[in-house]
Amino acid sequence: MNILVVGGAGYIGSHMVQMLLENGDEVTIFDNLSTGFKESVTGGNFIEGDLSNTNELNTLFENSQFDCVMHFAAFSQVGESVLHPGLYYKNNFCNTLNLLDSMVKHDVNNIIFSSTAALFGNPEYTPIDEKHPCNPINPYGQSKLMIEQALADYEQAYGIQYISLRYFNAAGASIDGSIGERHTPETHLIPLALQTATGKREHIKVFGSDYDTPDGTCIRDYIHVLDLCEAHYLALQHLIKNGESNIFNLGNKEGYSVLQVIHAAEQVTQRNIPAITTSRRAGDPTTLIADSEKITTLLGWTPKHSSIHTIMEHAWQWEQKLAPSS
Ligand code: UDP
Repeated sequence: MNILVVGGAGYIGSHMVQMLLENGDEVTIFDNLSTGFKESVTGGNFIEGDLSNTNELNTLFENSQFDCVMHFAAFSQVGESVLHPGLYYKNNFCNTLNLLDSMVKHDVNNIIFSSTAALFGNPEYTPIDEKHPCNPINPYGQSKLMIEQALADYEQAYGIQYISLRYFNAAGASIDGSIGERHTPETHLIPLALQTATGKREHIKVFGSDYDTPDGTCIRDYIHVLDLCEAHYLALQHLIKNGESNIFNLGNKEGYSVLQVIHAAEQVTQRNIPAITTSRRAGDPTTLIADSEKITTLLGWTPKHSSIHTIMEHAWQWEQKLAPSS
């Protein structure tokens, strides 16, 4: 199959590119390198370009007939989205409309979209299934929800078929340690904890210890990046067989608190990770845990690397490789 991976130099996109190449697919990567890294792209046809540039997009679609688009390109920091909402609405929402319009213009009808658990807001019940109401409490989640709404409208108007995958907390790295999570600046809990273990950081901050959870810190459902990619692959096969559009939650149905994650990092690294409690981070829901039964039932997805220790081991292998150069 001929796949366009938008945002393929980013954390999850680069793992997807690697999986597609391993499966023998033809892959084009379109990325502006604003948050991704060229060296994370392990093969395929790399094109540096920006979704805000409709000329670049049209050239991209004129030069190849894609079977499916996988769309990973987005800003994804909750805290930043609260401080700079316009960035999120423009880059995530408006630029996705450009992509969809180019697909319509060039008769490409399949898209797999990277959505997020952040669109649920504070859960009314847990674990969260797809029927849970969407009430995002930050512009990041809101921008992704607006895209899901646009996808439904583009299906209605132009016959675009889509699968929206709502990731809970992506984590981990490739098994061979060749690629992994890398953000500048890094804001995510697991890499920050591991960078504290390498000595790159003096301590990790725990954002709030007065949440309504057993240890007072926020609870998240961490899901291995390779399991997320596997879900994309199943979604791709489904769309290629003319399967219906759908929305799925992706997580392990198991939550870990910030303190539990730091503890798991200490166990895997066998190092002390100093933690300092600070105030809450704006826009953080208390608990996010996924119910992923729907994709298991309909597409046969089962996470293979679900334990927090496996996730941490792969992330640690990657972080140690990264440590000298960053
Ligand atoms: N977190 C923290 N300290 C950090 C980074 C994150 O306490 O330095 C917390 C954050 O408030 C959230 C959880 O860890 O409750 C996961 O945050 P992350 O940014 O990794 O992912 P998000 O849930 O925002 O997608």
